[in-house]
Amino acid sequence: MANRDRISRPAPEIRARVTILAEGCRGSISKQLIKRFDLRAHCDPPTFGVGLKELWQLPEGRVDPGLIQHTVGWPLDSGTYGGSFIYHLDRNRVYVGYVVGLDYRDTKLMPFEVFQQFKHHPSVRPLLEGGEILSAGARTIAAGGWQSLPKLEMPGALLVGDAGGNVNVPKIKGIHQAIRSGVLAAEHLVETGSPEGFDARWRASPGGQELKKVRNIKPGFKRGLWAGLVNAGFETVTAGKAPWTLRIRKPDFATLEKLDEYESPDRGWVNRDLPPRDRLASVFFASTTHDESQPVHLKVPDTDICVGRCVREYDNPCTRFCPAGVYEMVTDESGARRLQINAANCVHCKACDIKDPYENINWTTPEGGSGPNYQSL
Ligand code: SF4
Repeated sequence: MANRDRISRPAPEIRARVTILAEGCRGSISKQLIKRFDLRAHCDPPTFGVGLKELWQLPEGRVDPGLIQHTVGWPLDSGTYGGSFIYHLDRNRVYVGYVVGLDYRDTKLMPFEVFQQFKHHPSVRPLLEGGEILSAGARTIAAGGWQSLPKLEMPGALLVGDAGGNVNVPKIKGIHQAIRSGVLAAEHLVETGSPEGFDARWRASPGGQELKKVRNIKPGFKRGLWAGLVNAGFETVTAGKAPWTLRIRKPDFATLEKLDEYESPDRGWVNRDLPPRDRLASVFFASTTHDESQPVHLKVPDTDICVGRCVREYDNPCTRFCPAGVYEMVTDESGARRLQINAANCVHCKACDIKDPYENINWTTPEGGSGPNYQSL
């Protein structure tokens, strides 16, 4: 009862002259303010990736501490953007992960399976075989970069870090950008006391210019893997000095193809036997906890779409893009189909808030600070 009292108490109201929003990717408050102040009026649509990551404990002698390995492509088809990372750590541990661009077209694609298939590549599997997973999780990352930056200032608030979309996507690095934009926001407010002018100041700063330099690399992959690699080479050699900017045409919720307009490619996937067994087994390693009695924090305002149009047009992609298996289509006792939301499993990646083709899922903050408890991830 005491715990119930604690989590049902209204949140405190904090008032400030200027609020710096550092909520991370697809921040709940940032999302509302971007809409309210029309901060995307003069930029391309946002685009994101969903990253899946595991921490492994491996047998002695396999790890080369400090070694960083990146790949692009397999097991994705050449029309879908994605790539992996393996970071070799101390004490015989590695981080292994895969990022899938959420601008993918294939409604049948499962980002979780892409990652698990990657681990079975002949050059990765021997590294992991015989090891054990210590921790696992998933999170979306802002992938739009320079041309998709919203205006970062508004009356009474600033956007910094991933909340503003400041990730260097080719490097899969955003922490240094988050620190830089946070420091600049603090300096700006100390000097001027107002949000006004921060947007232009960030764009002209080394952090903003870093984004500008790599702006054409990710959009180049829209033309396929090989064209994207050639373009990435060109952009790297010329340090982003090309006089053009490749555009991002559609937000991620609009890129899925309908079932009758697209044939999923044969991915040639292999049987897998490395852990985790499935998405639910992976959720165990995220140590996610939500009070079962709290309201469902994943709001689906129109469930008629789920059992009607979405079945026919996309075969309920939420049941596949969620890395935690939160969404299930079930048949109840009367024989009717309905959407079941296993909200307690949510690992807060926010892919559903971004990728649902009808924008029919709204991720809201759960009560009491519940969610994944990532260990060393
Ligand atoms: S319900 Fe949404 S936010 Fe939660 S794990 Fe699934 S896709 Fe991610």
